[in-house]
Amino acid sequence: MTNPAVENVVIIGSGPAGFTAAIYAGRANLKPVVFEGFQMGGIPGGQLMTTTEVENFPGFPEGITGPKLMERMKLQAQRWGAELYTEDVQSVDLSQRPFVIRSDEREVKAHTVIIATGATAKRLGLSSENLFWSRGVSACAICDGASPIFKGVSLAVVGGGDTAAEEAVYLTKYGTHVHLLVRREEMRASKAMQDRVLKNPKITVHWNTETVDIFGNDDRMEGIKVRNIKTGEETDLQVRGLFYAIGHTPNTQLFKGQLELDDVGYIVTKPGSVETSVEGVYATGDVQDHEFRQAITAAGTGCMGAMLAERWLSVNG
Ligand code: FAD
Repeated sequence: MTNPAVENVVIIGSGPAGFTAAIYAGRANLKPVVFEGFQMGGIPGGQLMTTTEVENFPGFPEGITGPKLMERMKLQAQRWGAELYTEDVQSVDLSQRPFVIRSDEREVKAHTVIIATGATAKRLGLSSENLFWSRGVSACAICDGASPIFKGVSLAVVGGGDTAAEEAVYLTKYGTHVHLLVRREEMRASKAMQDRVLKNPKITVHWNTETVDIFGNDDRMEGIKVRNIKTGEETDLQVRGLFYAIGHTPNTQLFKGQLELDDVGYIVTKPGSVETSVEGVYATGDVQDHEFRQAITAAGTGCMGAMLAERWLSVNG
């Protein structure tokens, strides 16, 4: 671009979507600038920094730890010239060109912006939760369910929507039995998903039930205490895995009023694309995906964002 004060592309976020976008943009000679994040909505490297083994990312037949995978993506992005700022973006102005992106440290102008700020899995907020996180407690059955620690033991899923129903059914492949803990008297899941749950002999649904505590030993969780909301009765369930399926919060606070968001706050993209309601702004990864939410799908859309940004620049630059 002719004006050196205006970056070709700014990428917000450093999970699989952000770093894949940075690798592609770097290889296209766009000299991408990446705001890695610091505290808002996550940490540099994104959600995989909070997990141990990642067993389903192609290219790693033996598995790889989440932090190691993200370190490798970061090195690959740097190799292709990405400039990284370990800072949170505090505000953006997408109403004028060039776009403006501000952190506490700097203001950057850009012709295109790739948003990769991810989503945060909701937690119950129990005091024992952090103690057993990744030691029996997880927010992703598809990611963690096949781990040896969940095989041949009793498991529980919290939630009443489609994701909870789907995860309960999925976990019956590994656990001896799955307890589905539903806070209300009915499930929000689709009728078809409810049928699959209710007909499955390996699933017990506990209605009007909330989780109040997680207990275990120094190594891992061994059970949970649940309460019936109607009767107040408390019961211990001997489960060795607890999966939260109570939703995600997309990290889109920055974009409210500037981009079209859906009714739960995800950025709306054009079908089959990552284009947003503003030309030259692309949304990639979990911030626009409430269905798949996997590292590989995030990386795939990051690639799409960079290729579309490159195309936009070649036409408009
Ligand atoms: P994220 O990874 O969420 O990254 C978001 C990035 O945005 C972060 O770097 C954050 O710091 C940054 N950010 C947020 N706000 C700002 C801001 N204001 N300014 C600057 N930066 C900001 N998937 C798999 O495929 N396999 C697995 O085994 C697997 N295991 C998982 C285990 C756990 C415990 C969890 C929580 C998820 C797991 N997932 C797994 C899902 C996977 O981690 C996500 O699908 C993937 O990380 C989404 O990538 P992303 O780039 O869209 O966003």
